Amino acid sequence: MGNIQAFAADYSEARDKFLAATRLSGARTVRYDNPAKGPRGESLSTDVARLGLDDASKVVVTISSTHGVEGYCGSGFQVDWLATVGSAGLPANTAAVFIHAINPYGFAWTRRVTEEGNDLNRNYVDHGKPYPVNEGYLAIAEDLVPADFSRQGLEAADARLAAYRKKVGDVAFFRAVSGGQYSHPDGMFFGGGGPSWSNRTLHAIVETYLKGRSDVAVIDFHTGLGPYGYGEPITHYDIDTPASRRVRAFWGESVTESKRGQTASQARDGLGHHGPNRLLREPETRLTMCTLEFGTFDRESGHKAFRADHWLHKYGDPLGKEAAPVRAVMRRQFYPGTDDWKEAVLFRGHQIVRQAIAGLQRGAI
Ligand SMILES: [Zn+2]
Repeated sequence: MGNIQAFAADYSEARDKFLAATRLSGARTVRYDNPAKGPRGESLSTDVARLGLDDASKVVVTISSTHGVEGYCGSGFQVDWLATVGSAGLPANTAAVFIHAINPYGFAWTRRVTEEGNDLNRNYVDHGKPYPVNEGYLAIAEDLVPADFSRQGLEAADARLAAYRKKVGDVAFFRAVSGGQYSHPDGMFFGGGGPSWSNRTLHAIVETYLKGRSDVAVIDFHTGLGPYGYGEPITHYDIDTPASRRVRAFWGESVTESKRGQTASQARDGLGHHGPNRLLREPETRLTMCTLEFGTFDRESGHKAFRADHWLHKYGDPLGKEAAPVRAVMRRQFYPGTDDWKEAVLFRGHQIVRQAIAGLQRGAI
């Protein structure tokens, strides 16, 4: 099972491989054009493919590239599933929907954020309400993304960050850094000033493909947290709800629940989880969603990569000669690209999707 040739070297190749796989498998596709362009002027889009009957009551959904550069992982899996499983893996009443590159800008530019600078996992908030204020971020914003990115400049910024961390403690420090902020559009973990293009596009896709279905499973592929190559199914449902019980029934004992503090990622407002879960509600639709988080390297190196990426786009030239090393570090952090890592992604991805399809057949539990 699985073929690591499904993984691509860049966004455009990923898109080409995805479209080729959809044609071979007989899936129908729709393109959602993104207004931005890639670093070589290439067109960007989210492409959606559906396999199975239009009116199937049960649907399994995979999403790649919520965090842009993390799309290498999910895209490779989607291509492999279409090529090696296809409609033979679907019961008659079940369709499969593939959302390829929901954040095509981030994928193409090797970034985590969207063209609006949004971390999509902070963007699914109620934009009609005042945004939460992250006081901690305000205090350290200039040191997280310092204008002077020379070795001396970074050392000085790091010293100030270390002093701040000592003053407030680890929990408050990490909340300040990565809890999300709505004040610095060119800063880290920016949640946005409105629904981003990717958010609106996901909304439209859910309305078109999933509204009114009885049972829907969504698997949102991510990378960067946890042990190298291991895929952790993370759920953000409130504990002991029907949805949290379904997550466990689908994916068993490997499921971790952020609301129980078991996960590599924290529960917070604005997560991608809240996108589909606000639109699809019981009793009309039983939605069972997980984030499938594949480990790469440690958090510290991820943090370094983000800082350089934000520096490049705020103070540097994203098309200049300083861009290539920054992008190389980002890419390796979120897509190690070794054969054993790819094999692990495919094995786990197929297992999780197969379990989801089996779970959908059970309906209410
Ligand atoms: Zn992610």
